[in-house]
Amino acid sequence: MVKDQSQGESTTGVSEWKQKPPYLVHDENKDFDVKYEANCHCGRVKYQLSRREPLDSKLCHCTTCQVQHAAPFQWAAIFHKTDINFTNGHHDLEWYDPTEKSIAHTLPCKVRCSYCHSPIMDEGRNMILLFPSLVHLKTDEDKAYFKPRCHMFYGQRVMDIPDGLPKWTGLSGASDLIEDSPPDQVRELERKREAERTKKLEKGAEKVTKEGSGANTK
Ligand SMILES: [Zn+2]
Ligand SMILES: [Zn+2]
Repeated sequence: MVKDQSQGESTTGVSEWKQKPPYLVHDENKDFDVKYEANCHCGRVKYQLSRREPLDSKLCHCTTCQVQHAAPFQWAAIFHKTDINFTNGHHDLEWYDPTEKSIAHTLPCKVRCSYCHSPIMDEGRNMILLFPSLVHLKTDEDKAYFKPRCHMFYGQRVMDIPDGLPKWTGLSGASDLIEDSPPDQVRELERKREAERTKKLEKGAEKVTKEGSGANTK
């Protein structure tokens, strides 16, 4: 019963999850400001994003991510649930609750394509953690927006990444900073990043004004 939550239900079903973000499908005529397109490996699951810059972008070295992604670490970008619009295959999603180790849509949970099994996102209670490898980042500016800003659960790493980014032993902001990330260096880096971001936004605003396509740069 629980196993078939995402599959075998008709598009017009009354399942509550289909009526709410992040699975709410926007009508063609609804105003969803598309900034990015993304798809899973097989292309059955497709989505759009309306936010230019993720709320955060992190590399997670925890052993759960290592196992779930079959990779040394995981890259996730954080968005609001209302920032995503599935345009295809949101009925072909499969949910996994890593806490209960069960196939269930209980939050937080892992969301995958049920066909190619590409990880799509982690759905939290309030936010979603998307995997940017699926997002079509076309310009250097796009890539800069998604660039990882820190490492977390670095204490569980399988390899060192001497990139100067802040490294947290556990949860970012709620554990100790280690390795090549003394606190003053982290603050300096955050200052630099914020300055670059402001510069980019100002440049973007100029560009948009010149092109005359509206003043909304967000
Ligand atoms: Zn797929
Ligand atoms: Zn993790």
